[in-house]
Amino acid sequence: MKTSRLLIAALLLAPAWAASPTEPVRSLSREILKELIEINTTDSVGSTTVAADAMRKRLLAAGFAPEDAVVLGPNARKGNLVARLRAAHAGGAKPILIIGHLDVVEARRADWTTDPFLLVEKDGYFYGRGTQDMKGADAIMVTSLIRFAHEGYRPDRDIILALTADEEGGTSNGVDWLLKNHRDLVDADFALNPDSGGITTERGKPVDVEVASSEKLYADFELRATNAGGHSSLPVADNAIYHVADALGRLERYVFPFELNAVTRAYFDGLAHVESAQNAADIHAMLAQPPDTAAIARLGRVPQFNALVRTTCVATRLEAGHANNALPQSARAIVNCRILPGHSAEEVRLELVGIVADPTVSVRHVSDSTNEVSDHAPMAKALAPVALRKDVLDPLERVAAQFWPGAPLVVDMETGASDSRFTNAAGIPSFGFSGLAVDRDDVRAHGKDERLPVGSYYDGVEFYYQYLKALTGRTAR
Ligand SMILES: [Zn+2]
Repeated sequence: MKTSRLLIAALLLAPAWAASPTEPVRSLSREILKELIEINTTDSVGSTTVAADAMRKRLLAAGFAPEDAVVLGPNARKGNLVARLRAAHAGGAKPILIIGHLDVVEARRADWTTDPFLLVEKDGYFYGRGTQDMKGADAIMVTSLIRFAHEGYRPDRDIILALTADEEGGTSNGVDWLLKNHRDLVDADFALNPDSGGITTERGKPVDVEVASSEKLYADFELRATNAGGHSSLPVADNAIYHVADALGRLERYVFPFELNAVTRAYFDGLAHVESAQNAADIHAMLAQPPDTAAIARLGRVPQFNALVRTTCVATRLEAGHANNALPQSARAIVNCRILPGHSAEEVRLELVGIVADPTVSVRHVSDSTNEVSDHAPMAKALAPVALRKDVLDPLERVAAQFWPGAPLVVDMETGASDSRFTNAAGIPSFGFSGLAVDRDDVRAHGKDERLPVGSYYDGVEFYYQYLKALTGRTAR
């Protein structure tokens, strides 16, 4: 009796250890990832429509009705896929929305070791533009929906998947466009956005499971100085390049004020349990009242920590002059800022004016959707963190514990900005979780030789399949 009960317990626990998908699922998910990586979806020459159509074709083949998998967008090159797995019964809870962007950052073959638009498996990694950001997660979502369709699984509420255009750049952001033009297609109780959050590992060992419930506000500013110009053999003191260079030097030395919010405070508090002794001590000293400035400075050497405790502004582009032998008529720099919740872009622009401290250098806002330059920046403040929801986070924590045992769940603030800014602003609380494990020092999103551990990808495939079932199972939640 005792042994059989133990056996039953073991059998019940068995799926918890079966963290690896079966071979057919692995090959399906790999095929989908390969197809997505190899369709160029950059803003310059690519098309998200081609990728959206390819995913639609797969969903139709798996049994989705044509009206439940549609591709639509503002123009031929910026298509978005919206797919809906219908609930067993209509009239239940509002749907769950999953958003994922299909576009990727530009990648030049010459900069990369492998072709960025080929999926290459090498040394335990998948290489290719978008493996981390975020075709890996897109492929995981499509794989999950196809598995559900094959099984005839009917959730207790609709699951909507929107794979969209222009998160990274371009002027046709798909989430924004869908919310404005087809709200009925994407309206939901809450959204999951696997563009952020995830499992942080150190040499493959899970450190924590991070869910993003807040993010910084993105803003670009142009610093510009203009001069009459003239012959470079007759230099004058008033030189546009020197003005802008000096302004950037002052920005380099400026440290934006330290500030914590409810989410970052809780995040660091949780992190203290898994960090090294020195970092843990510094975190405690930083959280104390008043916060210890030396501890803040030490932690600030880690770019991730620094970005969590302050607004950051950094020079990202520079252009000036028109000839080697002419005095510059203009000099221009772009400064990219990531603004803490509760502050607006205009507030930061005024702060930059103070830092630049040179009336000959104008500080103007550059719209990231239209590239328009204007004297003032938007007054809208970065959104406050969304309220945490047990019905979203409890199943996530439970399922994640089977895949990344021992790694605590922490809710954090994204230092970047994602499409969650649109869903959150539209009243659809959004949670960022990629389901992918990436080493802390191997974040290559937007960079060269972007890659994802093969094992991390397959864990993500299985995780999301199980998590979505846990969220939408008709039995115990
Ligand atoms: Zn992304």
